[in-house]
Amino acid sequence: MKKPFVTLEQVKEIVKTYPTPFHIYDEKGIRENARRLKQAFSWNKGFKEYFAVKATPNPFILKILKEEGCGADCSSLTELMMSDACGLSGEEIMFSSNVTPREDYALAAKLGATINLDDITHIDFLEEIAGIPETICCRYNPGGLFKIESQIMDTPGEAKYGFTREQLTEGFKILKAKGAKRFGLHAFLASNTVSNDYYPALARILFTTAVELKNETGADIKFINLSGGIGINYRPEGEENDIFKIADGVRKAFEEILVPAGMGDVAIYTELGRYMLAPYGHLVAKVLHQKHTHKDYIGLDACAANLMRPAMYGAYHHITVLGKENAPCDHKYDVTGGLCENNDKFAIDRMLPEIKTGDYVVIHDTGAHGFAMGYNYNGKLRSAELLLKEDGSVQLIRRAETPADYFATFDFCDILGKYGEKGKILV
Ligand SMILES: *Cc1c(COP(=O)(O)O)cnc(C)c1O
Repeated sequence: MKKPFVTLEQVKEIVKTYPTPFHIYDEKGIRENARRLKQAFSWNKGFKEYFAVKATPNPFILKILKEEGCGADCSSLTELMMSDACGLSGEEIMFSSNVTPREDYALAAKLGATINLDDITHIDFLEEIAGIPETICCRYNPGGLFKIESQIMDTPGEAKYGFTREQLTEGFKILKAKGAKRFGLHAFLASNTVSNDYYPALARILFTTAVELKNETGADIKFINLSGGIGINYRPEGEENDIFKIADGVRKAFEEILVPAGMGDVAIYTELGRYMLAPYGHLVAKVLHQKHTHKDYIGLDACAANLMRPAMYGAYHHITVLGKENAPCDHKYDVTGGLCENNDKFAIDRMLPEIKTGDYVVIHDTGAHGFAMGYNYNGKLRSAELLLKEDGSVQLIRRAETPADYFATFDFCDILGKYGEKGKILV
């Protein structure tokens, strides 16, 4: 069972100030989960979570996570700027980018972020822009298939990221010669894993590789970054990940591989996005229309521009009709948005309670890669983001876009007349 963290009564109150659609986040859930993660990895002295900013790029969320001891994992110029603005600095920022523009490396270096190089050619590229910092990390891609007990988890051989194994040895040697003193190793081999075995399996690969690299190059390896990839179960049935079992599996690998190699002081870092935020966000929408033709359609005031995952990946997101939590799910609907794209469906052939126009629905697990992947297709505007605070009050943490925002990039001219920046009359 997935239970919304807001009730119909709360939503009726909220919409008096902030109309639907909106994304809302649960501060209590976010904080408790961050504390669980920290506790699960407390066996490792240097443990730190660097929240993957791209999952939920909102400064209010970053500040909450900072208060819980998290840093930020950035991959672009604006993510670096946002992290800097939130008071994160130096070693609180990891910069894990790829196809990196010059100005991004320049800002990362200026902020003192820990740079995670995606490719061996980036050594010279970074050196030319900002010099080689004393602390540096390299991203590993072992290629081939990533399997756990003969089950294929993902296909690193098809992934654009990271150094090959040979390039790691060569890269570490070059970096050392250029003055790097403290090294990190990173890999991201599978996304949205619902398995307690992913991190431990990844850790074994990275720990073994770290011992080899130390022996081959003499590099002083200070941290190993297990990156993102711990998933959540988007479906109401089935297993959830158990972060304590995951952390314990990593600890076993640590004690078997790193401790005997004299590397028992290596810090474990994570760069989780989905695991940190996805369950603690809802997209709340209102039923605008229903339509009964070849199928029964429920049309919402939210669309794929507010949540792209179903349209992009066919992803399942659970839906609750507020106020009908206990009603029988005896009606089959397609739940859609209003884009002129037939993949704009939040659910297809979903069994739900009978829905009336004006009902409010919660689309679950939208806290990560939800708002963040939004777009403006069909001239749809991005929604507000709200925070349900621990005291039960609701705070606006990003206002909804207005037509003026949509038209803002024509502000260099007056082609839009009364709708444009120069006209200022926006209806
Ligand atoms: C996207 C990303 C993450 C976060 O991934 P999740 O699946 O949200 O945990 C972490 N690190 C890097 C480099 C990423 O690109």
